[in-house]
Amino acid sequence: MMNEEDERLQCCSCGGLFTFTADQKRYYRERGFANKPKRCLRCRRLRNDGVLVDEILSERELLLELCKAVTELRLYIEKELQTLRQLVVRE
Ligand SMILES: [Zn+2]
Repeated sequence: MMNEEDERLQCCSCGGLFTFTADQKRYYRERGFANKPKRCLRCRRLRNDGVLVDEILSERELLLELCKAVTELRLYIEKELQTLRQLVVRE
């Protein structure tokens, strides 16, 4: 696919070249960002605007961890409820 290739872009703040990688492009598209990043990672960090791909990635991992924890908690609660119901039936 043509738009899945790394792209060299020029930062509008420092004028330096930076790479807009195929992975980053995919995340941008998934998130519905139509525009390419205007600044290099360093300048975006300094300005603290825009969404950093690194942060999107760690946010995803965090969400996955949270989902796993919630599922485990649900299973635990269901098991406890079952035990409680059995107790109630017995009495
Ligand atoms: Zn820059």
